[in-house]
Amino acid sequence: MAYNVAEQIERMKAKNPAEPEFIQAVSEVLESVAPVLAQRPDYEEAAILERITEPERIISFRVPWADDAGRIHVNRGYRVEFSSTLGPYKGGLRFHPAVTQGMLKFLGFEQIFKNALTGQGIGGGKGGADFNPKGRSDAEVMRFCQSFMTELFRHIGPNTDVPAGDMGVGGREIGYLFGAYKRLANRFDAGVLTGKPLSFGGSLARTQATGYGVVYFAQRILEERGEALDGKRVLVSGSGNVALYAVEKAEQLGATVVSVSDSSGAVYDPAGIDFELIRHIKEDLRGRVSDYAEQRSSAEYYDGARPWGFGGEVALPCATQNELEAADARALLNGGVQVLAEGANMPTTIEATEMLQGAGVVFAPGKAANAGGVATSALEMSQNAARSRWAFEEVDAKLHGIMEDIYERCVAAADTYGHPGNLVVGANCAAFTEVADAMIAQGLV
Ligand code: GLU
Repeated sequence: MAYNVAEQIERMKAKNPAEPEFIQAVSEVLESVAPVLAQRPDYEEAAILERITEPERIISFRVPWADDAGRIHVNRGYRVEFSSTLGPYKGGLRFHPAVTQGMLKFLGFEQIFKNALTGQGIGGGKGGADFNPKGRSDAEVMRFCQSFMTELFRHIGPNTDVPAGDMGVGGREIGYLFGAYKRLANRFDAGVLTGKPLSFGGSLARTQATGYGVVYFAQRILEERGEALDGKRVLVSGSGNVALYAVEKAEQLGATVVSVSDSSGAVYDPAGIDFELIRHIKEDLRGRVSDYAEQRSSAEYYDGARPWGFGGEVALPCATQNELEAADARALLNGGVQVLAEGANMPTTIEATEMLQGAGVVFAPGKAANAGGVATSALEMSQNAARSRWAFEEVDAKLHGIMEDIYERCVAAADTYGHPGNLVVGANCAAFTEVADAMIAQGLV
């Protein structure tokens, strides 16, 4: 007997009502690993699917804080400790008003497989809060982070659970969270958080790692086709940390990146995005992409638009989940897209993914293409454990090597399981078998 995937998905829907993103992420993995399940009846005997889809632990807690006017707010904080099979729980914290437990379960579930693909010995987790950092002062963000850590600190540790950043959580927030942890725990555990500022244990190249990694992955795909990024038109969505450094690296490799975007609209710049200008607006001024268009004569701002209709051979969705739907996939195909690598987590809907794959586009799922960020977090943990610091070039070279390894693993697994060239099947099968085999080896825990 082997698992019936359709039955399993129905079971998941009944068990996790009102968690559509989690169901979407689980369905994508389960459908991809069907060829593995058909060969491995021992996975059903060990109840691997029932266990791997159930978080080991979810912590949910009240986060009270006072704004600058003294008004009290209450947010809900979470940490989803999904899987410690391959190492300590590892994954980011997301501060965004739309955060729910279901969203963090989707992100934590994806993180299990992404982290497995890095080969760095890290389990999967995710956390965050429905806090909106937009428009908040530094002092408000600090107080929120301190209140959040007042509960979280008892659940984390360098060998237990190691959070990092995600949307709404960057170096500033990690700094405040680290300070609060250090005071509460009375321990300078550098390895308890990653993405730290450089002066207290942060790794060089961690800021750039996710964006650079996505581009290294896209470049590897193009090389396989006898091509390169040099001379290609690239569409990037988003303008956060991942998008910014995808722009920088793609341009370093000779591509023309013609777009960035945010939740208000998209910028089209046929002359190529000026990396330093957009970096300054976003990182130093915490501004919007419309500010970029105002300052750059070659750029046009389209309110409420997405960048997928601007035309380009390579698409790098780096904004957020489900930002690329069927109509966007059609626009990409009309514009000549050949390669898509996901910088965000699950930015492409299942329908859009199938349309692109059906039209022959090479599609790299986020759990493979954007794994460079968390892989470099693991490199930060190594440096912290050894009390050492590696040069930028050393970390970048390791990151590049890890992205190449992930690509090779995905290609090999896609071949093994009868879907040559399908990187979605390859990523899911390679990661799933590694985690499932380790779960069996560890017994019923
Ligand atoms: N939030 C990032 C991700 O989605 C990074 C997580 C980490 O570095 O732990 O993979």
